[in-house]
This record gives sequence, C-alpha cells and structure tokens, in this order.
Amino acid sequence: MRTKLIAGNWKMNGSFESNGALLRALKEQWPTLPCDVLVCAPAVYLAQCRAELAGTGIGWGAQDVSAHTAGAYTGEVAAAMLADVGCSHVIVGHSEPRSYHGHSDALIAQKCLRALESSLAPILCVGETLAERDAGLTNAVVMRQLGAVLEMLTPRQAAQLVVAYEPVWAIGTGRTATPDMAQEVHATLRRQLHAFSPDAAATVRILYGGSMKPDNAPALMAMPDIDGGLIGGASLQADSFSAIIRAA
Ligand code: PGA
Repeated sequence: MRTKLIAGNWKMNGSFESNGALLRALKEQWPTLPCDVLVCAPAVYLAQCRAELAGTGIGWGAQDVSAHTAGAYTGEVAAAMLADVGCSHVIVGHSEPRSYHGHSDALIAQKCLRALESSLAPILCVGETLAERDAGLTNAVVMRQLGAVLEMLTPRQAAQLVVAYEPVWAIGTGRTATPDMAQEVHATLRRQLHAFSPDAAATVRILYGGSMKPDNAPALMAMPDIDGGLIGGASLQADSFSAIIRAA
C-alpha cells in the first residue's frame, strides 16, 4: 500500500564531475523505476541535480533546512529556496547535526514546519545511541524525537512526513540493526503515529538507515513496517545504490 522510498544521503561528498557521472549512470540504469527514488545532495549541487534529473523519475532533496523563512541568517538555506530548485524532500534531524551542531528536538520541529509550509516532505531522522540502547531507552528516545515534531503538526501535515529510523551506532560503522531489531522500532513508531492519526500511520513511510547495503537491504525491506531506506555510503556508487533500489 505504501510505495517504497529509497533515498540517498550523499552527506558532504561529491563534486560537479563525480555527481554528474553518478546521476547519469542512475538515469541510464533506471529509465523506469520500481519504487520512489531520491538523492539528497549538498545544497550547492541541488541545481545540478535539477539540471540532470528534471523529467526523470528520480527526485532530489536537501540535507538540512533553516528554521527561519528569510532574511538575516547568514549561511542558512530557506525551505522556499529548496522548493525553488525543485526539491521534494529535505532531511531533518540527522544524528550528525543533532550531535555536532546541537540541533535540539524543538529546533528540528521548527525545521519540519518550515519544510511543510513550502510543500517539502521532511525526512525526520530518529535513533538511539549505543549507550541509550544498552540502557533500554531505545523506544523512549525515538518516541521523544518523533513526539516533539508531531506536537507541532496537524494530522494532515503529519501524513506528509517521512520518518527515518537510524540507530546512531549503525551509521557509517558497517554495523546494521538486524531486520527484527529494526522492525521492532519501526512498529513502535507506527503505533505512535497511529495514536496521533490513523491516516498518518497508514501513509507515512518509515525508512531504515544505518549501513544499509545491497546484501542486507532485501531482508530489512521485507519487514512489514520498513518502507525503504536512507542510504549514506552505498548511495555514492551507482552500482550499490541501484542494487538497493532493486531490493525495494
Ligand atoms: P550510512 O549512512 O548508510 O553510511 O550508514 C546513513 C545515514 O547516515 O543516513
């Protein structure tokens, strides 16, 4: 019922030349797509994504958005600007800016609101650290992170969200949550969405992220509440990204 979504998170990687080669390879391999596919590029390359991808089935999105709408915010990029270069999605609340730049739950909720006001779907990242998992706090952490956003939204807005469960200990480490571990958290998030709005629970895609690779993607995406992936390292090569698209 929910179309799977495979979203690449390039992080701070790429150049005009390497992006062009990657995007052209993806276009060639996927004249038609088996699921929704998106690349989240550094902001300076979003216009390049538009030039390469407009008219293909592949979408493009950003990796962060300002909590403000316009004005004297040096260095920030507004949601309306992302929409202006054709973005459909924006990653919000990734664990890297949460931990390196102190992005709080409240700030992340504001960013989600700004995105939705510009008709961008936020890809809201949630996930626990290893210490939190070991302390039995996984569900409490992810529910706090999702709850901080839901309390700012109407049910209609919530239905536009994409949620990405990314256990912090699995990001870029080669350690993946097992399909059962991930499914358990995804089901928790789905129940939380359902308590907020049954419609949102039915439509919101919950992606798994954290060392998703061609070999572990099929088993993860076979789980009932895993609706796709947010792919870091493996999205930088056309072959591995395509293999994950094929698994969806
Ligand atoms: P990874 O990154 O696939 O390289 O672990 C995922 C992410 O941080 O979104």
